Amino acid sequence: ATPTAVMVATGVGATNGVLIKGGDALEKAHKVKYVIFDKTGTLTQGKATVTTTKVFSEMDRGEFLTLVASAEASSEHPLAKAIVAYARHFHFFDESTEDGETNNKDLQNSGWLLNTSDFSALPGKGIQCLVNEKMILVGNRKLMSENTITIPDHVEKFVEDLEESGKTGVIVAYNGKLVGVMGIADPLKREAAVVVEGLLRMGVQPIMVTGDNWRTARAVAKEVGIKDVRAEVMPAGKADVIRSLQKDGSTVAMVGDGINDSPALAAADVGMAIGAGTDVAIEAADYVLMRNNLEDVITAIDLSRKTLTRIR
Ligand code: ADP
Ligand code: MG
Repeated sequence: ATPTAVMVATGVGATNGVLIKGGDALEKAHKVKYVIFDKTGTLTQGKATVTTTKVFSEMDRGEFLTLVASAEASSEHPLAKAIVAYARHFHFFDESTEDGETNNKDLQNSGWLLNTSDFSALPGKGIQCLVNEKMILVGNRKLMSENTITIPDHVEKFVEDLEESGKTGVIVAYNGKLVGVMGIADPLKREAAVVVEGLLRMGVQPIMVTGDNWRTARAVAKEVGIKDVRAEVMPAGKADVIRSLQKDGSTVAMVGDGINDSPALAAADVGMAIGAGTDVAIEAADYVLMRNNLEDVITAIDLSRKTLTRIR
């Protein structure tokens, strides 16, 4: 594209909150064949909410929630934030202060959390730490099996039912035993299905990639109209998915928002960081979609197509 065409397109993009990082980025987007969407925070709203708590031990709900929230308090993961927020509310409503007085300071106060030590985040799996000198594990099946925690059939069935409805089942083990499960939902963005349909009409293939389990992934993909799903992908694996699609010379776009997505955004021919995003993700991207609206994926491809056909 000529410098003038690039300037015009960049201006049109900016008006729509689409930041185009240079002429090269603008040029490549017109021949995109695949658009890979991260699930969490990209196709979904990134507003994970606890919908279900099921305790499979002698603990009561309050104890269980305090335990899990204490363990997750050191994690930045959206699932962790949902769990801590939920437990805080439970605690706040259930055991209000002695004089009945409550205010925002109480809500933010972490005094109700238990002390933990030896915390580690296990990307793609969950977290582990010590509470009262006993190990707590919060995460998915992979985390449980790696720690030789057995999942009884009735618990497995419970988790599968959550997943069938597009929720993520978070499994909790304490002191070597499975103690409970939480179901967490993250609704789709309102425009997600329309954008998928639009891409298909443009001859572009949408693909969903996620670290989440296959059952949840398929349920969400079905809801949004995406046929091609890659699930249980470890954070580093997202870039591998892209590289394999590029092998026959296809141009691949990646839309993502998280820290974990920046290797994939960099590996893609066209990286699109969406929403508030993280600085790392924005750095790795060719486009920044500031409105956090998936329609701008189409705006970006359209803009590139129009700019390039006008020149020819
Ligand atoms: P995504 O691709 O959806 O962003 P991640 O790679 O971040 O997924 O995580 C994959 C899976 O690992 C999650 O669906 C969840 O089962 C588990 N997981 C990761 N971090 C946590 C956490 N802090 N607490 C519980 N589970 C977690
Ligand atoms: Mg992620």
